[in-house]
Amino acid sequence: MKATFLTKAYEFKELEIDEPKISKPDDVIIDVKYVGICGTDMVSYQGKHELLTFPRVLGHEFSGIVTVIGEGVKNVKPGDYVTVEPLVTCGICKPCKIGDYNVCEDMKVLGVHVDGACQEKVLINADRVFKLPPGTSLKEGAMIEPLCVSLEISRRGQLSIEDTLVIFGAGVIGLCVLKVAKCIRARRIISIDISDDKLKIAKNLGADYVINPIRDNVEQAVAEITNGKGASLVIEASGAEEAIKTCWTVTAYRGRVVIIGFYKSPLVQIPPIHIVKKELDIYGSRLYRNRFPLAIDLLARKEVTLIDLISHEFMFDQIDLAMKTALNPAEKTLKVVIKKDK
Ligand SMILES: [Zn+2]
Ligand SMILES: [Zn+2]
Repeated sequence: MKATFLTKAYEFKELEIDEPKISKPDDVIIDVKYVGICGTDMVSYQGKHELLTFPRVLGHEFSGIVTVIGEGVKNVKPGDYVTVEPLVTCGICKPCKIGDYNVCEDMKVLGVHVDGACQEKVLINADRVFKLPPGTSLKEGAMIEPLCVSLEISRRGQLSIEDTLVIFGAGVIGLCVLKVAKCIRARRIISIDISDDKLKIAKNLGADYVINPIRDNVEQAVAEITNGKGASLVIEASGAEEAIKTCWTVTAYRGRVVIIGFYKSPLVQIPPIHIVKKELDIYGSRLYRNRFPLAIDLLARKEVTLIDLISHEFMFDQIDLAMKTALNPAEKTLKVVIKKDK
């Protein structure tokens, strides 16, 4: 079968490799159909991912059809449309033991530490395979992973109906957080991004206020919206250093800040005075744990749709073009997906 390896920065090679075979009772083989391209993949493509080694098959957001299952598999059967929680965890470290496997000390993410979905078939442990709900297409199914990232962020930040929420970044993750906040019926949602196009989407998805830092003073604007109180929850999903500098001033006393962005430089300056004076709680958020069943239930009940976040679609063999498109701001992409079949 064919597998597409990133052999070095900016270079993909399609190679012929052996098909996966069932060796354990809980193995599942999936015929991959759609793969989403994520910020992480773009970092890898540019050769800037610190944890990635070459050659590597990218792809951790994907959907496909089950072809073969091991004798012990109960949750899916051949022909099922599925998505995958793309993690391989050790199961024995302390975080794993207490169920916090998203921070496994020996975490391996598909497409980063081990080969991912940009190949014809993948072999996955049944525990990580989730059947798509009726009415969810394979294309939309590839978007469940980013929704899970956002559900984890929302849990970390204890997002509730009482919150005035600021979301820095209106990319796929920021918009998924917005969708979750709408589900929870958060009081006020303020979306911040430097792209007016993205802010327009945020507005359409129900953001009460949008702020473009290129035009507006973010601190002043948030102060006006919140009667000078600030936001009870601030989510930094932009990865922009300006945003992480501004987080602390727009957060209310006793507010919470969740950071999920990756920043260009390993060191960013933050003013500790606000954290101390206002007793802010600061959370990092990584991947997800036990969020796939919830995400799938939200889709099944039509409380969330994801298909509207997919802006571009390419064929598997156009992966290089797909990456270049995703990296080009002029293309105004949201989620770029690649697909196997026409
Ligand atoms: Zn991703
Ligand atoms: Zn572990």
